[in-house]
Amino acid sequence: MSDERQCDLCGLDIGPRPFLLETPERQCRFCCEGCRGIYEMLHDIRQTPVQNLDEDKKDR
Ligand SMILES: [Zn+2]
Repeated sequence: MSDERQCDLCGLDIGPRPFLLETPERQCRFCCEGCRGIYEMLHDIRQTPVQNLDEDKKDR
């Protein structure tokens, strides 16, 4: 396969610094954070929950 670099959501060129998303099946690449977020919603993918860090701070 050639070195294709296309967004897994919209198919645009993802450029030199793609947004990556690890899924159970494979690693997806996106042209922007918006595309990655939409893909996450569509496939119900949950990455490391960053928001929980704030809740830890509130506890103190
Ligand atoms: Zn895209």
